Amino acid sequence: MIIIDGKKISQDIKNEVKIAAGKFNLENGFFPGLAFILVGENPASQSYVKSKGKACEDIGFYSVTERLPATVSEHEVLSLIGRFNNDSKIHGILVQLPLPKHINEQRVIEAISPLKDVDGFHPASVGKMMIGIDTFFPCTPYGIVELLKRSNIDPSGKHVVVVGRSNIVGKPIANMLVQKKEWANAVVTIAHTGAKDISYYTKQADILIAAVGKAKAITKEMVKPGVVVIDVGINRIEDSSAKNGTRLVGDVDYDGVKEVASAMTPVPGGVGPMTIAMLMVNTLKAAGGKL
Ligand code: NAP
Repeated sequence: MIIIDGKKISQDIKNEVKIAAGKFNLENGFFPGLAFILVGENPASQSYVKSKGKACEDIGFYSVTERLPATVSEHEVLSLIGRFNNDSKIHGILVQLPLPKHINEQRVIEAISPLKDVDGFHPASVGKMMIGIDTFFPCTPYGIVELLKRSNIDPSGKHVVVVGRSNIVGKPIANMLVQKKEWANAVVTIAHTGAKDISYYTKQADILIAAVGKAKAITKEMVKPGVVVIDVGINRIEDSSAKNGTRLVGDVDYDGVKEVASAMTPVPGGVGPMTIAMLMVNTLKAAGGKL
């Protein structure tokens, strides 16, 4: 069984972005800039923004983080986005989700200029993705495509089964892989809670993408021998043998499924690190640079 090493692949991509950013700076006299907006004290959000900021620093990107209290009004968030939309040093804007309940996430996403939509969540980006036009692809599914490509696993003609239909993972990855182009061209099924028997679908997968949000939801009995498994899930479970009493696991029962899969992403160290790497790729692109 091949372990698809997202840690290494994401580091390769960040190294490539760093070289491209240096070249971009020589040609243009500035580095790509990314603005983070962090609302409230959610520890996971704080940690994500910290890691993304660190990646910017390592690569040489200019970055700013605006921290706003959880009580901030939607109007203030929208005004800040407006300011970054008009800031020539800022090429990408990332509002860390989720937002407090009194703020309408969709309105916030739509306030970001599509030219600076490095998260790829704006309806203009989603629409372009849907019809196969180049755009900012959402970072996690974009990372999955890149993982497959760099592991030389071509989805063309394969049956890809995606479990989960969220707007940030399930729907976009299905959309990206069904396109008639290189490193896509798959036959795609999306399964979700509406399915009576989820394993009826998962058993047919040549490539199974699990974005369920439930620890170890996919078991050995649910897949066919030789399947390639991409585990998007990040779930914290109790583990008395771990230092802090918990550990991270995916949506796939790794130990069971590895006995039958031909290739698999681990958790952690699979899809997770790819998300930040692809954010860096999108930011370089937003500034007008390319790999
Ligand atoms: P989500 O919004 O909660 O969506 C989960 C999807 O799974 C829903 O479409 C749901 O179906 C479906 N589902 C849930 N239980 C199911 C079941 N028993 N059988 C079939 N379908 C089921 O989650 P998400 O945002 O897509 O994230 C999925 C996982 O990926 C989470 O663990 C999250 O932490 C992780 N994640 C990781 C990264 C990263 O690596 N950087 C990024 C994003 C998310 P319904 O639509 O019918 O409810």
